[in-house]
Amino acid sequence: MKALITGGAGFIGSHLAEHLLAQGDQVIVLDNLSTGRHSNIEALVGNPNFEFVLGSILNADLVDDCVSRADVVFHLAAAVGVELIVRKPVESLRTNIIGSETVIEKAHKYSRPVLVTSTSEIYGKNTSDLLSEEDDRILGSPLKSRWSYSEAKAIEEILAYTYWREKGLPTVIVRLFNTVGPRQVGHYGMVIPRFVNQALRGQALTVYGDGSQTRCFLDVGDAVPALDTLIRTDAAHGNVFNVGGSDEISIADLAATVIERSKSQSVIRKVSYEDAYEDGFEDMQRRVPNTAKLREFIGWEPTYSLPEIIDRVIAGQRS
Ligand code: UDP
Repeated sequence: MKALITGGAGFIGSHLAEHLLAQGDQVIVLDNLSTGRHSNIEALVGNPNFEFVLGSILNADLVDDCVSRADVVFHLAAAVGVELIVRKPVESLRTNIIGSETVIEKAHKYSRPVLVTSTSEIYGKNTSDLLSEEDDRILGSPLKSRWSYSEAKAIEEILAYTYWREKGLPTVIVRLFNTVGPRQVGHYGMVIPRFVNQALRGQALTVYGDGSQTRCFLDVGDAVPALDTLIRTDAAHGNVFNVGGSDEISIADLAATVIERSKSQSVIRKVSYEDAYEDGFEDMQRRVPNTAKLREFIGWEPTYSLPEIIDRVIAGQRS
């Protein structure tokens, strides 16, 4: 199989590229290196089954050429990270809406199966026990950057879904929940790499709000096989899947765990949301995925525990 990975020099994309190459697939990575980094794919350059194309998903001719030469498309290129979305909303919206439309339209032109990576931000402020794929979205004002990001990703999902329903294009939608692992950087939000970086430098760990908000973290090593299997599973086409971990932890407890596991002398410092992001910023108090559908369709189970996930990030940053 020859796979095109848009955003393949990013954190998740580069792990997916490695995974596909290791099992004998060919990979084309299309990335404009805006948040992706060449160092993420450096080890792959020179592999005869690997090709790197520098460019944007907003360049329709370039996307056309890359899609035409692939058998399947993993669409990961996007503006991600709450901090980046808040800082650069226009660019983020253009990439996430126009860029995604371009990729999906070209996949349709050449009849290539396409997997789009959406996000748990879709659910907004819905704090249900277990968020299922059909659950309602609860969003604040579209004038707040965070919710405009959720809207943009919803439009991407709608495009993927309607191309499947109306035009028969094989599409799969994946909603990633707090995926972490080696090579992820903390510049754009992303709490675990930030906490680990602060702990290793002996700086205070910045817990936003009162730290009672919870998340479930998933190791990228568990996320990537799910993406690979889903695109190859005909029954999955036309469906949306949550991909996420199951151990729920508060951000305050997460900070304490990072300090403990890295044997750091750092302290914890509470920072208001206004200081961390912008006035009126709204966080999600809780986000726990129901992954029963993923288990049912492809028999998927996460394998890394939270301590292992944290240890892998610590080891990655130390090296
Ligand atoms: N967070 C924090 N300190 C940081 C970065 C993030 O307390 O330095 C919090 C953030 O407010 C949120 C949680 O950690 O409640 C997860 O943030 P992240 O940006 O990693 O993911 P998301 O908000 O998209 O779940």
